[in-house]
Amino acid sequence: MKVLIVGSGGREHAIAWSVSRSSKAEKIYCAPGNAGIAEYAECVDIGAMEFEKLAAFAKENAVDLTIVGMDDPLVGGIVDVFEAEGLRVFGPNKAAAILEGSKAFSKDLMKKYQIPTAAYENFDCAEEALAYLETAKFPIVLKADGLALGKGVLICNTLEEAQEGVKSLMLDHQFGAAGNTIVIEEFMTGREVSVLSFVDGNTIKTMTSAQDHKRAKDGDQGLNTGGMGTFSPSPFYTKEVDAFCKAHIYQATVDAMKAEGRPFKGIIFFGLMLTEEGPKVLEYNARFGDPEAQVVLPRMKNDILEVMEACIDGKLDQIELEFEENAAVCVVLASDGYPEKYDKGLPISGLEEFQKHEGYYCFHAGTKFDGDTIVTNGGRVLGVTAKGKDLKEARANAYAATEWVTFANKYKRNDIGKAIDEA
Ligand code: ATP
Repeated sequence: MKVLIVGSGGREHAIAWSVSRSSKAEKIYCAPGNAGIAEYAECVDIGAMEFEKLAAFAKENAVDLTIVGMDDPLVGGIVDVFEAEGLRVFGPNKAAAILEGSKAFSKDLMKKYQIPTAAYENFDCAEEALAYLETAKFPIVLKADGLALGKGVLICNTLEEAQEGVKSLMLDHQFGAAGNTIVIEEFMTGREVSVLSFVDGNTIKTMTSAQDHKRAKDGDQGLNTGGMGTFSPSPFYTKEVDAFCKAHIYQATVDAMKAEGRPFKGIIFFGLMLTEEGPKVLEYNARFGDPEAQVVLPRMKNDILEVMEACIDGKLDQIELEFEENAAVCVVLASDGYPEKYDKGLPISGLEEFQKHEGYYCFHAGTKFDGDTIVTNGGRVLGVTAKGKDLKEARANAYAATEWVTFANKYKRNDIGKAIDEA
């Protein structure tokens, strides 16, 4: 099969690595890709939002399957463009990707189908949102309805902070149209767990669990980022939690989307909060998490192309997902200053070390070639993943491997997987 992967981050590198291991893969393209992805794929200089150009490329090159890794093209309707051209594509269409694209939609869906989530109200008028806050309990959570690069969620401790938040989201349009509608949500406490799943419109098969670290600094301090590291599995995702989510959340979500006339095919990412009252949905994403994919895919035993084709063909019920009985930890190496200001174009050395060690991976998030040299090209630069027989061993291995790589201004969190010690 000829496969085209759309995207350029660590998640797409993990997908490309996984596809490269499939016996079905003859040729892999990635648009636009990065320097690490280039090891397995021919990188094509087309942007992820250039749907028509991507579809034309897929036709010209007889691509058998296109895999869309990123949220923006999915929510923008890339799958509809490909399907209209008769091309096979893995991911939800626009009508289904709204599960991630609109938080107001996803909250209403959960309410309508009694899927456990935080209490909330949606607002498209700033005055009404401000009036509501006058009687609200604090802390409280404000969320821009649309995509905001993971930055559209504000946790407000006081009325003043929340008033400021409403102003910046709805009146100053900090995230553009994404903030025209906002969700005001009850603040929940508990452990967070991410569960990824394959979905074929009817059947859902969940993957092994993972936990992200969103804040930039140790101790969950600093600004929210795209994710500074992950581990898998989560020791807090117990058999009881799994049974509850299977009974009340996973299939219920797939059935709800079908009932709404929006059958979902692709990946559903469940962001869960394990509260005292039981697991609740924090958010849905319509694609692999980044960096969750970097710890989940290396542990998956299945042929990823077989699973994705089964999703497209509505035959997921015939697949059993299998994961290794080990653990994996990913530590992100970022450019100092991320997620605000940082330098780019700095040479990276030591990457060849990963070829010499089984169970170690260096997924590129923001890199490119400058001549023959690989240089930094983003805030998150590399995701260093290592496996181990258990989480502690995987964590020690991942941190040891972060020392193999050098670049100026290299920054990482030193407490990825700290929660493991509390399990
Ligand atoms: P991303 O796109 O990076 O996945 P997002 O913008 O979709 O993020 P959410 O995942 O909904 O945002 O929220 C980001 C973080 O904010 C969550 O991981 C969680 O830590 C916190 N958060 C969100 N909702 C609540 C809530 N109701 N109570 C407490 N914390 C919350």
